[in-house]
Amino acid sequence: MPIVVQKYGGTSVESREQLLAVAESVSSLRKEGYGVVVVVSARGSTTDSLVSEAKLIAAEPAQRELDMLMTAGERVSMSLLAIALNSIGCPAVSFTGSQVGIITDTRHTDARILEVRPFRVVEELEAGNVVVVGGFQGVSTAKDVTTLGRGGSDTTAVALAAALGAERCEILSDVDGVYTADPNRVEDAVRIDEISYVDMASLARYGATVLKEEAVRFAEREGIAVLVGPSSGRSPGTIVLDGPGAEPAPVTGLTLLPGADLLEWTGSIEDVRDQVERLGRSLSFVVSACGRTAAAADRRGRPASQDPAADATVRPVDLIAVVGPDGGTDRVATEVVRIAEGLGTTIAAISSAGRATVAAVDPGESERILRELHAAFFPATTSSPRR
Ligand code: ASP
Ligand code: MG
Repeated sequence: MPIVVQKYGGTSVESREQLLAVAESVSSLRKEGYGVVVVVSARGSTTDSLVSEAKLIAAEPAQRELDMLMTAGERVSMSLLAIALNSIGCPAVSFTGSQVGIITDTRHTDARILEVRPFRVVEELEAGNVVVVGGFQGVSTAKDVTTLGRGGSDTTAVALAAALGAERCEILSDVDGVYTADPNRVEDAVRIDEISYVDMASLARYGATVLKEEAVRFAEREGIAVLVGPSSGRSPGTIVLDGPGAEPAPVTGLTLLPGADLLEWTGSIEDVRDQVERLGRSLSFVVSACGRTAAAADRRGRPASQDPAADATVRPVDLIAVVGPDGGTDRVATEVVRIAEGLGTTIAAISSAGRATVAAVDPGESERILRELHAAFFPATTSSPRR
């Protein structure tokens, strides 16, 4: 029996109507003869609310308990979906991450999957049941409940698809696929049909939220093609795979990651880890020249352990990334600087390597720069004269 793993994002199971619509699509997929595994996220902004509640009680909640709390969101979705499926005559059982054998390391709130032992999933599929799994969670080697980092349901889906040898892995939500830039910021952005794992991982790393970076890396390691698309089926979506079938364009896509920090100090590049760790951030890039070092750090990290060192300055920036086969070339980097300057603004720091150029820019100017860069790198899609 061919197996399909589908993941539904929080916006697709938010209301009762949506939940029932998901149940209907899952049920028809099962009727087509597939073994169906459905991974669900917490409904709407449930996870945010849970975290806020904990932070009202304690500024720095115990990480272990935070994990226990956050997984409650996915439990609600998974049990309600299983109830909905059973109510329409589609036999289903729901399981936590721990029950389906997702074994992680012990890093609470940002655990990594070490192994998947999906025995119960296999048994239930063989018995003809749809298996609904709470995403974003596992059990650690120390037998505690863990979560996989925000957006981690994507990783659950890919890991299960790999462990089950699934025919397809689909990440379904309210977005139509992966775009050349966030369509909410750039109206001329277009959907990408096929994208390579490397480029997708870079886009995720620098701000695209459609698919978690960790999940992309997992998919690449395991050779799983992932479809990212809308739960409504209104668009064919984007396939993330080894290499796109079509002749690749020089630039695949652009991202904007708001709310980063630029740390600058006079001193050696060796200090970078220390500087970034003090702020509890994750390092995006580092550049060093003429005795000055600048590190861009993204705020999706852990709480700060200490204040920045005395010789470091910290300023808020947004990061813009240009990703693709030519993404890391001098030509692209030069173009980014030229366009920013043409708009009367300067780039605070820029790094160009591999398949990506990443620029730290003034947060007040980032959207304008992004739109202008999109027009330059994707001229064919630009519909109207630039403002
Ligand atoms: N509910 C979790 C989050 O909001 C996990 C997920 O949605 O993938 O981050
Ligand atoms: Mg997500």
